[in-house]
Amino acid sequence: MPKGSITERTYIMVKPDGVQRGLVGEIMARFEKRGYKLIALKMRTADEALLKKHYCDLVEKPFFPSLLSFMTSGPVVSMVWEGLDAVKQGRQMLGETNPLASKPGSIRGDFCIDMGKNICHGSDSVESAENEIALWFTPEEVLKYDQTRAAHIYE
Ligand code: UDP
Ligand code: MG
Repeated sequence: MPKGSITERTYIMVKPDGVQRGLVGEIMARFEKRGYKLIALKMRTADEALLKKHYCDLVEKPFFPSLLSFMTSGPVVSMVWEGLDAVKQGRQMLGETNPLASKPGSIRGDFCIDMGKNICHGSDSVESAENEIALWFTPEEVLKYDQTRAAHIYE
């Protein structure tokens, strides 16, 4: 078994632009194919109260009102992915906040251009992942099951 926790979890969300552009399957497929385990999945249109909690560190930023109206403009797809280094690797797979700084091969580097329409969210630390998972899902919605292919993914 590898060093580190194979039960590390990250919160990944396809934002309203990603849903509208038909990129949900593409984004999920990348995490699936990498080897991460999907343990929660939900679609909804988020309200202001939820987003103010989710982006609590950004509420004072000048771009927050436009971020809020964008994020409430349509449904989002919320997911929890589990596996070794899920938080850090999830951020790598997403790319940089500004898509123009994102490398080709990353989700943002392959599918978007503008910072305000960057199609996906990923937790930035293990601690924020746990907070975000608790915010977007009830405990019952986060599933425990054996990934039968784990022996082919981890040494
Ligand atoms: N954002 C923006 N303008 C900025 C910075 C951020 O519109 O100057 C938006 C963008 O959608 C980003 C989100 O706010 O994804 C959250 O910002 P954060 O710095 O947490 O970036 P992330 O963690 O999503 O890469
Ligand atoms: Mg962030």
